[in-house]
Amino acid sequence: MVLGTLAMQNTQRLLSIFSAIIFSAIITCFWSMNVLAQSESNSTSPKVLNLYSARHYQTDEALYNDFTKKTGIKINRIEADDNALAERLKSEGNNSPADVILMVDAARLWRAQIDGFFKPIQSKYLEARIPANLRSKHDPEGLTWFGFSTRARLVVYNKAAVNPKDIDTYEKLAEPINKGKICTRSGAHPYMLSLVGSMIELQGEVATELWAKGMVSNMARPPRGGDTDQIKAVASGECGVALTNSYYLVRLLRSTKPEDQEIVSKIGFVWPNQNSTGTHINIAGGGVAKNAPHLQSAIQFLEYLASDSAQEYFANGNNEWPVTKSVRIDNDGLKKLGAFKAENVSVAAIGRNQIAAQRLLDRAGFK
Ligand code: FE
Repeated sequence: MVLGTLAMQNTQRLLSIFSAIIFSAIITCFWSMNVLAQSESNSTSPKVLNLYSARHYQTDEALYNDFTKKTGIKINRIEADDNALAERLKSEGNNSPADVILMVDAARLWRAQIDGFFKPIQSKYLEARIPANLRSKHDPEGLTWFGFSTRARLVVYNKAAVNPKDIDTYEKLAEPINKGKICTRSGAHPYMLSLVGSMIELQGEVATELWAKGMVSNMARPPRGGDTDQIKAVASGECGVALTNSYYLVRLLRSTKPEDQEIVSKIGFVWPNQNSTGTHINIAGGGVAKNAPHLQSAIQFLEYLASDSAQEYFANGNNEWPVTKSVRIDNDGLKKLGAFKAENVSVAAIGRNQIAAQRLLDRAGFK
């Protein structure tokens, strides 16, 4: 009887020890699973890229979605004009969350470089894909910014009022024959500063200043509005001649709206300087932000922009020309513009000349 009671007590003790072991094993197992789940959620948490963009084209949405689809990297986009972006980057300083900065025009990219917004990077892929005249100069730490698409500065004219032979060079726009006919946007705008920066590179400051003075005395109205406003004013007859970036013209050429087709029916365009220096070319581009928190994603994004699919998008989505020659262009509007001789000036030099360009335009009274 005593023996039996002892045996029963031992069995109960063993059972309780066994239960404790099982219980602690289950707890350990749950804890491990939880830790594993947490660490997995860390390793698979969505990768992000903070993009500061001064590009102003609605169709870019498709480009960013394609990048996210291909890489799983989500893009947080901040869009603002270049001045607002620059102010933001200055006030954020070293704590800026920006990974990539996109800007339009060599003058703005150069200014952003001088302001210290970019981090030089090494990328054999970008160097191989983007021609040397369409990116920043190579410094010891690498390349600072890159052109991803190009645009040309065209002359548009009113077919009823102007003979295209009188306006087939930038120089002729400043000649007395075009008195009272010229419309442009402001002389402070980067598109104007870059054209003048290119002319300074090709002809020197003295000749370019004379040209600017001739332009001022030929104006139909004080400079105002954007490129599309200039085209509309040419169609209405308020101006005889204007300068425009090519994608604004192509947008109108591709439009099915009757009012746009009406505008197109009134205007012609010429590729300036085909027998001399070639038509002025500019870029849209960007670089890695100086303190990019997601450096690898930032480089990956820039390399994506130089890939065939992104380059095709620039041509077919936003009516720009790709910087890579291998890309197929499937855009009726661009095809309507036809082939042309482009100037061979480094966009880095155009950017560098922008301060001289602004001073020169101020002296000429080009508002
Ligand atoms: Fe533009």
